[in-house]
Amino acid sequence: MSKRIFLSPPFAGAAERKAVAAAFDSKYLAPCGPDVERFERQLAALAGRRHAVAVSSGTAALDLIMHCLGVNGDWTVFAPTLTFVASVGPAFHRGAKLTFVDCDSQGLIQPQLLEQALKACKSRHKLVLGVDLYGNCCDYGALEALAAAYGAQLVVDSAEAVGAVRDGRPAGSAGVAAIYSFNGNKIVTTSSGGAVLTDDPELARRAAKLAQQSREPVLWYEHREVGYNYRLSNILAAIGCAQLGRLKTILEKRRRLYRHYLELGGEYLEHSPGGNCWLTIRLLASEQARDRLVEAFDRADIEVRPVWKPMHLQPVFAGCPVVGGETAERLFRTGLCLPSGTGLTRNNLKRIDEVLLNMV
Ligand SMILES: *Cc1c(COP(=O)(O)O)cnc(C)c1O
Repeated sequence: MSKRIFLSPPFAGAAERKAVAAAFDSKYLAPCGPDVERFERQLAALAGRRHAVAVSSGTAALDLIMHCLGVNGDWTVFAPTLTFVASVGPAFHRGAKLTFVDCDSQGLIQPQLLEQALKACKSRHKLVLGVDLYGNCCDYGALEALAAAYGAQLVVDSAEAVGAVRDGRPAGSAGVAAIYSFNGNKIVTTSSGGAVLTDDPELARRAAKLAQQSREPVLWYEHREVGYNYRLSNILAAIGCAQLGRLKTILEKRRRLYRHYLELGGEYLEHSPGGNCWLTIRLLASEQARDRLVEAFDRADIEVRPVWKPMHLQPVFAGCPVVGGETAERLFRTGLCLPSGTGLTRNNLKRIDEVLLNMV
């Protein structure tokens, strides 16, 4: 029996193993160390930002940004309804009101609908949360213009978009701050990890301090504010540096995979030329056709997954307003994420293609 094919497993090997061993031998098993600083410098360069703060997850990165901006119950946060729940969890936990906005055919927040929502909003404090879904950057220019026009802060969740660009601007470069995720299934992974990207030195300093229990720089443990334990360990940062060394290869492979699927025929969620092609998404004619394809992949022991279920359809957000929503619902019901791992072999692809080509 051949082995199960996973959706987007980590792509790592000798380089990562060597980096971990070197970090271990350097006695920096303790959480802080030189690899964290190196990783942060590389991340800032990749995002075209002055500062990067490496943390324990993408969710932690968003939580720190929400804390630093002072998001609370007086705020309304505008987010695309089509996203992973982690995009909005930190704002939700701070008591912010959430307003969901429909997406375009690429799954990215739709600027005209966002403007409608901003126009109707009575809150004193507003925050627009852009999400670079499936590795395509949202329309940074349009979101910046809207945020400025309506007095809103702009934060961008680039968790899925490491290495992507739009109009010459890298993912992670837009908004007062943006985040990356290095979770196990993302484009590059540290097993678990994330980063805050920003040009604001005060926000970067505060996020880094909050991530380490907000300790004041004195001999004893002095705290003027209560922080978190969100720092990324030095060992994981070492893995991150090794992964960034492979980024070019990873992007080439993911983009090639997307083109391969396109050549097989059928409909797909469009990836922009600058997108990182994190996952390739097949679009089916109906929910039933999607389910049939899921069953066929299941029989072949191949992991696939429906598109994110929109936030306005989640029981926990039943009371939240949504502007539009039909496009997100259609993508959810008819979209299927296909295996997109960097390490997929020719044989793996043969098995996947067989399922797709045998589809009725
Ligand atoms: C993965 C992901 C996150 C959260 O990142 P973690 O590192 O898993 O906490 C946030 N937003 C989006 C859109 C994601 O895909």
